[in-house]
Amino acid sequence: MIPAAFEYHRPADMAGVIALLEEHGDDARVMAGGHSLIPMMKLRMAEIPHLIDLQDVAGLKGIAVAEGRVTLGAMVTQHELIQHQGLANTAPILREAALVIADPQVRYMGTVGGNVANGDPGNDMPGLMQCLDAEFTLVGPDGQRTVAARDFYEAAYMTEREDEEVLTAISFAAPSGGYAYEKQKRKIGDYATAAAAVILQKDGGTCAAASIAMTNLSDVPVWSDAAGEALTGTSVDAAAVSAAVQAVLDDIDPVEDNRGPVAFKRHVAGIILTRAIQRAWGRA
Ligand code: FAD
Repeated sequence: MIPAAFEYHRPADMAGVIALLEEHGDDARVMAGGHSLIPMMKLRMAEIPHLIDLQDVAGLKGIAVAEGRVTLGAMVTQHELIQHQGLANTAPILREAALVIADPQVRYMGTVGGNVANGDPGNDMPGLMQCLDAEFTLVGPDGQRTVAARDFYEAAYMTEREDEEVLTAISFAAPSGGYAYEKQKRKIGDYATAAAAVILQKDGGTCAAASIAMTNLSDVPVWSDAAGEALTGTSVDAAAVSAAVQAVLDDIDPVEDNRGPVAFKRHVAGIILTRAIQRAWGRA
């Protein structure tokens, strides 16, 4: 389908972006890679009279790995996440997750900022960023602020970001320990039926800390404190894994859709989480 008519803006700096957002309010939307927004406009699920392209805005690109912290510019593409060697060494879970997003064409255009800002429960990066305890930097008319990924998501497509704010960067402490990103999807290029991001710290034979987040099993990503606690202090034996799975099942709230009924999604969530925990523990 063809989207409704819109005016295309391409400001050269952030001040220009924010001025346009203030001028047009709810009638304006920023565009990053356009691979979530344009399909929504074509399907007439979103009508945006003013589209503000972020491509020419300086300072939104770049991957920095320094002093134990990783910072990603909002306009870094999923392809760039996969290609970056420093990131592969420091936070390989990003590469593992980005590789199961869509297909190469989408990954060349889709950005990490667009993926987390969108608020689509099917997007893979929000749950991963909650697992990493990332912070999102937002810039707006009142200046800059940071919001924890774990506090950012309110409901499907509704986030802590105000209409006149732009997400400029994502940052998190370089993770240590074992990691895994597991995703079940119907076919290449599909969104998750269920996905799990897991990071485990190992001390001797014991799990010293665990961070677990699930994707597309609620209207927001689900970081499960209880699931992490179920593994912490254990040897990640079968009983502990089963307790973690039960904790996640208590936290998620999937709905029936073309990926299956609720009982199937809960079953898949358990399998995917079990695999992710086992792989992360094997790598820890
Ligand atoms: P855009 O489409 O440009 O923007 C998306 C939304 O975020 C818009 O509302 C926009 O206003 C807002 N936005 C963008 N950037 C900012 C910013 N810096 N600050 C504030 N707001 C901003 N994603 C997955 O995670 N997993 C998948 O399996 C997957 N499969 C896909 C399959 C197909 C066929 C397609 C077309 C897309 C798929 N996607 C998937 C989505 C893809 O990864 C998107 O590119 C991504 O989610 C959004 O990034 P974008 O840069 O394209 O954002």
